[in-house]
Amino acid sequence: MIFYSTTKASAPVTMKKATLEGLAPDGGLYVPSEMPRFSAEEISLLESGSFTNIAFAIAKKFVGDEIPLDRLSALIDDCFTFETPLHELDADTFVEELFHGPTLAFKDYGARFLARMTGFYAAEESRMITVLVATSGDTGSAVAYGFHGIPNTRVVLLYPSGKVSHLQEQQLTTAGDNVHALEVKGDFDDCQRLVKQAFVDQSLRQKLTLTSANSINISRLIPQSFYYAWAALQLRQHQSNALPTFSVPSGNYGNLTAGVMAKMMGFPIGGFIAASNANDSVTRYLDEGRFEPRPTIKTLTTAMDVGNPSNFARLLHFYEGDFRKMGVDIAGIAVSDAETVETIRAVHDRYGYIMDPHTAVGYRALEHFRDTRSGAGKPAVVLSTAHPVKFDEAIRTATGKEVPIPESMHDIMNKPKQATLIGNRYEDLAGFLGNLDR
Ligand SMILES: *Cc1c(COP(=O)(O)O)cnc(C)c1O
Repeated sequence: MIFYSTTKASAPVTMKKATLEGLAPDGGLYVPSEMPRFSAEEISLLESGSFTNIAFAIAKKFVGDEIPLDRLSALIDDCFTFETPLHELDADTFVEELFHGPTLAFKDYGARFLARMTGFYAAEESRMITVLVATSGDTGSAVAYGFHGIPNTRVVLLYPSGKVSHLQEQQLTTAGDNVHALEVKGDFDDCQRLVKQAFVDQSLRQKLTLTSANSINISRLIPQSFYYAWAALQLRQHQSNALPTFSVPSGNYGNLTAGVMAKMMGFPIGGFIAASNANDSVTRYLDEGRFEPRPTIKTLTTAMDVGNPSNFARLLHFYEGDFRKMGVDIAGIAVSDAETVETIRAVHDRYGYIMDPHTAVGYRALEHFRDTRSGAGKPAVVLSTAHPVKFDEAIRTATGKEVPIPESMHDIMNKPKQATLIGNRYEDLAGFLGNLDR
């Protein structure tokens, strides 16, 4: 498969180049030159398949002959060693739990696949790739555990000292081996500034092959389409022919874009709800046809606090820049913090089920959709993007309950923290990077 940039100002590239580069040199995002299609026959054959069967079938169409099929299949088995359950709340409403990976959030899907693809291509080129990432939580931990132990790669992650939760800090600092955590005496903006400066430091870049692992990388996006296809096929086996709507708690809109790709590939999906918090530039676009990004507003659902979503350019590309076309598939609904807390409480009261705040935004948006946009009585899937234990304070406020730390996390909670404390000047970071081996 060939990929080209959304701005079309640079040359088309292979999957390898798109994966190792991340962003196109013209500043655009890579998109497939044409969307792979699954015939009705191929889809019925996949219906009884496992998650990894479906993942392999999709990945194969994008990767083509760039990776031998047995290697690709092994790579996928190695990525998805955990379950992707559909939790039934009632006959029409399902929660797809995307938080059973090693760092308890859906970002594990993208990060684990990206890490293994990067490792494969880096080995082919006999290169050592250094992933440099500034993080305030979820992305950094998924990247740390995603790349942990992958040959030909290493991670240097920067996080603000004292500004992440204990659980997050354990996830960021305990992987060890090829993962280096830098605890920066400063805030998240300092971390981001240092990373940006490293990317433009030509003398450093002559020494190290740097890459970022942010959500614009096509190899982070493709694996997120797997769980849409999986849920849609699961539902088809148990349900009528009505096509499900997916409600997607959104920040940078990578997750939603991957869903749109799954639908375009031919999987049985009705449409989507773009569920946002007060950072509603996309939901407003869907209503008004004008995209006016605004400064980021701080909310309870911090992972969705994005004023200018990076994947919006891809969404626009898929809908040919036409907000009416986009609106046929996607309904935009914004949810307030007060509604979010109230929803966690109400869902717990009604179903005895505890959802994290981001998931609650998705659930509340679905309720709204059913009340106002003729979505009543149709099947729907709310994507659950994080385990509630990651946001236990909000859960305590809403329900008065403690969320126990899942068994799978006990290991990480008991490992010793390994981090290097650095100052917030660029020399501090350059000094550390300069001492890494080539
Ligand atoms: C990253 C994240 C989101 C937003 O996903 P996007 O792909 O950026 O839209 C939502 N919920 C949680 C818990 C996240 O970590």
